Amino acid sequence: LLLILSGLIFIVLVMLYRRYHSTSIIKFLILNAIKQNHLVPYYQPIIDAEKRLICGYEVLIRWETKKGKVILPDEFIPQCETNGVITPLTFQLINTVARDIRKLEMQAGKTLPYYFSINISANVLQDPELIDITRSALAHYNIAPHNLAFELTERAPIDNIEQAEQNCIKLNAMGIQIKLDDVGNGYCDFLALQKLQATTIKIDKVFIDDIDSLAASSIVKSLVAFAEKAEVEVIAEGVETEQQAKILTELGIRYHQGFLYSKPVPFSKLARDKNFNV
Ligand code: C2E
Ligand code: CA
Ligand code: CA
Ligand code: CA
Repeated sequence: LLLILSGLIFIVLVMLYRRYHSTSIIKFLILNAIKQNHLVPYYQPIIDAEKRLICGYEVLIRWETKKGKVILPDEFIPQCETNGVITPLTFQLINTVARDIRKLEMQAGKTLPYYFSINISANVLQDPELIDITRSALAHYNIAPHNLAFELTERAPIDNIEQAEQNCIKLNAMGIQIKLDDVGNGYCDFLALQKLQATTIKIDKVFIDDIDSLAASSIVKSLVAFAEKAEVEVIAEGVETEQQAKILTELGIRYHQGFLYSKPVPFSKLARDKNFNV
């Protein structure tokens, strides 16, 4: 019995060690990648399908390794959210995006009519520092607040809802738009929209994938009706085909995002994009 017991204790210790060790290695690697500017924003346009114009871009992070490999966010963002690295990562991203906006404005010789929408995880939304970081990035690069937007995912629950609300009220007062991401999957009601000062909901790709099915289109229809009552805009994500775009437009969804229009592109491509010359 003693032998089995000590064997079990040994296994548990090894598991704990490996777990602790692997998370700290990942943390180390990501912190290092942040320092070396290997975490870079890619930009995917959001289209006003009615006017056939770009109205904004979503900022999607990529990890570009030294060897030229590109690692997608699903492979490291969830870890960053559990080990706290998401906060320095997002704060740096806000500055990088502000700098990129500045560069585009210099190049265009005028202020931009678009917004750049940054994904904000629950832990970051609850961080009181978010406001100061954002405010100083805007001031430092001389960017108008309407050029920045934040999208809040429902993936992780917000535990300090009061602090999150306070931040959203301040962001709203500053003129930064707030969008609720991945709607349809989780918790989105009138109260959440109001509390978080959201002006837009983004309908998750899973519903757009199946938009020609009765089930998905009924859900999308009810989300559109809800948005109308709540007086918020609707963006459909993951639009891949003309057929989907057509159905979405018929359902009254004006703003589209997806591979049909463009994949996320790095800044160098964005700066050269002819669509950019407004
Ligand atoms: P998301 O916020 O739902 O972003 C949309 C995802 O759908 C992106 O994946 C985008 O590349 C992809 N997508 C857009 N249009 C299409 C399409 O037509 N077809 C297909 N198949 N995919 C499409 P990506 O870039 O891999 O990002 C995955 C998730 O990682 C994002 O999902 C977001 O939750 C998270 N993420 C990305 N960047 C950041 C960030 O800076 N901070 C935080 N907290 N999360 C981020
Ligand atoms: Ca998003
Ligand atoms: Ca989304
Ligand atoms: Ca999604």
